[in-house]
Amino acid sequence: MKVLVVDDSATMRRIIIKNLNDAGFSDTVEAENGIEAISRMAGVELVLTDWNMPVMDGLSFVKEIRRNTAYANVPIVMITSIGAKKEVVEALKQGVNNYIVKPFTPAILIEKVKSVIPN
Ligand SMILES: [Mg+2]
Repeated sequence: MKVLVVDDSATMRRIIIKNLNDAGFSDTVEAENGIEAISRMAGVELVLTDWNMPVMDGLSFVKEIRRNTAYANVPIVMITSIGAKKEVVEALKQGVNNYIVKPFTPAILIEKVKSVIPN
């Protein structure tokens, strides 16, 4: 399963990708903002995206890919430091399937990933 990891922090991308690899998700691709992420969507079966990023933030990225019928059903997990109920509700409304609030443990990350992908 090809997983796209989107975060403006290279350190955060490295942590997320390591956690994914440790859980058997070895096919990963990265992007540092929404624009770059859109250009890397081909063949992607799961998206993990940060919310706050320069150039194009996670919510705008989600709106863009949900507008594209090719990517309308790709599962998305939003990883964010924004844990306020209002923001979470907005993210879910825009088509995010689940969300993780930073800081998170590897177990939480993998649990959320598994919650949005087919068994
Ligand atoms: Mg960020």
